[in-house]
Amino acid sequence: MRPEILFSLFTPVTTLTGVGPRIAKLIEKVAGGRLLDLIWHLPTGLIDRRVIPSIAEAMDGQIVTLTVTVGSHSKPHNRRQPYRVTCFDESGEISLVFFHAHTDYLQKTLPEGEVRVISGKVEFFNNTAQMNHPDHIVPMAEAESIKPVEAVFPLTAGLTLRTVGKAVNGALDQVPDLPEWINGPYLKARGWEAWKPSLLTAHQPESLLDLEPQTIARSRLAYDELLANQLALALVRKSMRRKPGRVTRGDGRMQQLVRESLPWPLTGAQDRSLEEVAQDMAAPHRMLRLLQGDVGSGKTIVAMLAMLNAVEEGRQAVLMAPTEILARQHFQSLGPLAEAAGIRMEVLTGRDKGKPREALLADLESGEVDILVGTHAVFQETVTFKDLAFAVIDEQHRFGVHQRLALSAKATEAPPDLLVMTATPIPRTLTLTAYGDMEVSRLDEKPPGRAPVDTRALPLERLDQVADSIRRAVSDGARVYWVCPLVEESDLVDLAAAEERYAHLSGMFGDRVGLIHGRLKGPQKDAVMADFSEGKLDVLVATTVIEVGVDVPEATVMVIEHAERFGLAQLHQLRGRIGRGNRPGTCLLLYNNPMGETAKARIEIMRETEDGFVIAEKDLELRGAGEVLGTKQSGLPAFHLADLSVHADLLAAARDDAKLILDLEPELDGKRGPALRILLYLFERDAAVSYLRSG
Ligand code: ADP
Ligand code: MG
Repeated sequence: MRPEILFSLFTPVTTLTGVGPRIAKLIEKVAGGRLLDLIWHLPTGLIDRRVIPSIAEAMDGQIVTLTVTVGSHSKPHNRRQPYRVTCFDESGEISLVFFHAHTDYLQKTLPEGEVRVISGKVEFFNNTAQMNHPDHIVPMAEAESIKPVEAVFPLTAGLTLRTVGKAVNGALDQVPDLPEWINGPYLKARGWEAWKPSLLTAHQPESLLDLEPQTIARSRLAYDELLANQLALALVRKSMRRKPGRVTRGDGRMQQLVRESLPWPLTGAQDRSLEEVAQDMAAPHRMLRLLQGDVGSGKTIVAMLAMLNAVEEGRQAVLMAPTEILARQHFQSLGPLAEAAGIRMEVLTGRDKGKPREALLADLESGEVDILVGTHAVFQETVTFKDLAFAVIDEQHRFGVHQRLALSAKATEAPPDLLVMTATPIPRTLTLTAYGDMEVSRLDEKPPGRAPVDTRALPLERLDQVADSIRRAVSDGARVYWVCPLVEESDLVDLAAAEERYAHLSGMFGDRVGLIHGRLKGPQKDAVMADFSEGKLDVLVATTVIEVGVDVPEATVMVIEHAERFGLAQLHQLRGRIGRGNRPGTCLLLYNNPMGETAKARIEIMRETEDGFVIAEKDLELRGAGEVLGTKQSGLPAFHLADLSVHADLLAAARDDAKLILDLEPELDGKRGPALRILLYLFERDAAVSYLRSG
């Protein structure tokens, strides 16, 4: 249950005066729908209104605060003309200009002959000063209500600074004093204030320096957020480890059969990772390990051999993939290995229904199925294992912590050992925020014989030339991915672009071109993928659905249209689809000019390196952690206040503190407990609270 002290922060923004449903919608768009979201909506800039010249002294383009006497009003003759109010002081005249004005309102706010204080930007037209829509117009008596330095917030069309500013201030008025959750000596050493004054300070910048993430106030808020994050992770992890695991120690006979059936030996990194997994499984506590390996580093075989370790003990294993395509692909590519091992492996996705599904579930429950491969479907309540001992989650970034836990509930005896695999190379600092101190194995060595991918960047105008070179490559037997970007996150527009390209390329290659996108039904997708995989198609036009995991070793060429719209991580994932076999690959990044600096830098990095870990670090530098974490792609937590490119030291401190806290009061029932619970709720880590015995 959320502590009462926080109730006010969780009320909707419509409870604020001046925020009706229309404004609330706009606020929701930029910040969120609750007061809580508004208090995290920190200023990103400021307007200095401390320049107080006479009208004659005001300079073009300057933000000024003027004291003027209101002169005559001149109403427009038609809708297109603005409403003008001439004002003056001893030095000269200025014309206030209003478009689409409400006459009544202006006559009330600017009565002829009265003195008013106005603030806004002065501009000169034909040597006369004018101010369009002053930001502030108040009588002398209220001059103080114009803040000398005004905070600027991120806005959206239709939402003015005044409105957001007022809403934020309204939310800040309701902020309670909260008990201190940071330990005293640390707080003091850092020179931090309590939470509420820190929050208020962060909202009242007086200079540009106050907007930096390293200010005392903002550092404290960032630390709070990181502490909540680390404490939540530590709690989840502890609860997973609380139940002891089982000792699983296969005799190696099935693994041996599979190894013998492979046309190649495992890489050193694969062997090492497998050894680490085997040791975890053999230990009496619960295994929780992250297997990080760049695209193509060969995670799948590691997963398979580890699962066989459990099967050798007479237990079951499950491999879960984030998409239907991937689940089926794993099932197919692992089929021969399961056969070599002499075990039964089945696949279960949302698409399996009716009788066959029931039969499969029955066989799973009776233990006849040794390994189950599938999608989220394997979480469903109706799925029961006889003895699930080992679970692998592929492409972890698509799954949340909750799903990991749901899976744990599937085990009858003890929670299964868990191997989480991610193809997104995550910089070390970020690994910590998403996985805390989860054990990590890294596949930092690619299978030998991988030919490098030659990456080139070309402007989109040279599309015809690109199409010609693709024609040549195809006649030499190449298989080509042609990737069309996601446009504005609308898969309809997205699809239109892909369909257009498909039509265009079909004109060149006839029926040897396929199209795959997110709107296709599962079996249709499979059919297209299978055709491409079997060489019935030369060119596969795709939206980003192919990004994750798809493996067609024969594909050697990739064209990415509008490469400037993709993030680095995404480009890297996409390119990882080629150069998987032993023939060298070519990746053509087509960009649209003019390109921003960041886009240029991204493309340059892509040309320089294929090392996912290097790319991930560069990505972090380019975008800042906030964005890396914020993307849906990453599946990592998004922070409101913490910016890991500057707050990495705070993250380390928060992790250490979280550990210490749980050592001292494992159930948060000691001295700091109540405050820490409030912290968790404040940052909406409620789920973590539920792992405490006393909720
Ligand atoms: P990812 O880590 O991206 O999931 P995969 O497991 O799909 O990579 O492996 C990529 C390709 O490399 C597959 O075709 C696989 O058969 C092959 N592969 C895996 N391990 C080795 C190895 N040790 N030597 C040669 N090829 C390998
Ligand atoms: Mg994979």
